Amino acid sequence: MKDTRSLRERYDDVRERVARAAEKSGRRASDVMLVAVTKYASIEDIRELVSYGHIDLGENRVQQLVQRAAIIEEFSNRRRERGAAPSAPSVRWHMIGSLQRNKVRQAIEVSKLIHSVDSLRLAEELQDFAEERASGPGGESIGPVDVLVEVNISGERSKHGVAPAAARHLVDMIDTMVALRPRGIMCMAPTPKAGEEASLDDARRVFTRCKEIFDEIRAIGSGGERFDILSMGMSDDFEVAIECGANLVRVGSAIFGESKSTTDEDDDEDDDEK
Ligand SMILES: *Cc1c(COP(=O)(O)O)cnc(C)c1O
Repeated sequence: MKDTRSLRERYDDVRERVARAAEKSGRRASDVMLVAVTKYASIEDIRELVSYGHIDLGENRVQQLVQRAAIIEEFSNRRRERGAAPSAPSVRWHMIGSLQRNKVRQAIEVSKLIHSVDSLRLAEELQDFAEERASGPGGESIGPVDVLVEVNISGERSKHGVAPAAARHLVDMIDTMVALRPRGIMCMAPTPKAGEEASLDDARRVFTRCKEIFDEIRAIGSGGERFDILSMGMSDDFEVAIECGANLVRVGSAIFGESKSTTDEDDDEDDDEK
């Protein structure tokens, strides 16, 4: 059945479900960050969401991230100038998709948090550009770039991310890089096999394992005090993810509606380097 609800209704519904799932696991709604994934959303819908006061937005492709960040920034500035939202905080962009090394510089410039560091090589590249930026004009005021390590829990070959056993080592390596700060880990639920429904049990298994890895790394003290973000859960499974301990969920279609587009999360059409 077609979803005829308005953006406002869908957004409020997701926020309510996030709050309920958080309470169910003994936390508050404010303990879980909701990142609205805009990859299939129209600019109009993104603007509307921002006008509700929503702050955290996510994109999975750098090019679109950069374009949209510029458009939304301009929109926010105009609203501020008009006095519509004089004290509205700036939007924060999350880079959630696999990051190609030739797009690292752009990604760093606009992202508040990069969710998808999945190799030492990529981390080193990020470190190089982040350090270069910090030593440039005005660089003294730029803090380290916050990143998550993406972990491939299910072991599917179609998925990005490091093997669970390698996660801690990558966190340790990133922790030695002065211009980067490891903030946590990210994972994705398994992709259902062709013709099958997504299984919430499978998702729960993956999320539970991811939470264990997160806790192990924290217990050892890798990543330090600020290693505190567990990014997991999307439209179909964010409540399960929160119950399993996620404190950041990435939700697209449940907020913006189903897409007509055929592009998906692993759209690598502009993968000109890897
Ligand atoms: C698209 C995407 C999401 C959101 O997916 P929905 O199912 O639309 O909520 C979350 N995380 C990543 C990495 C994505 O690419």
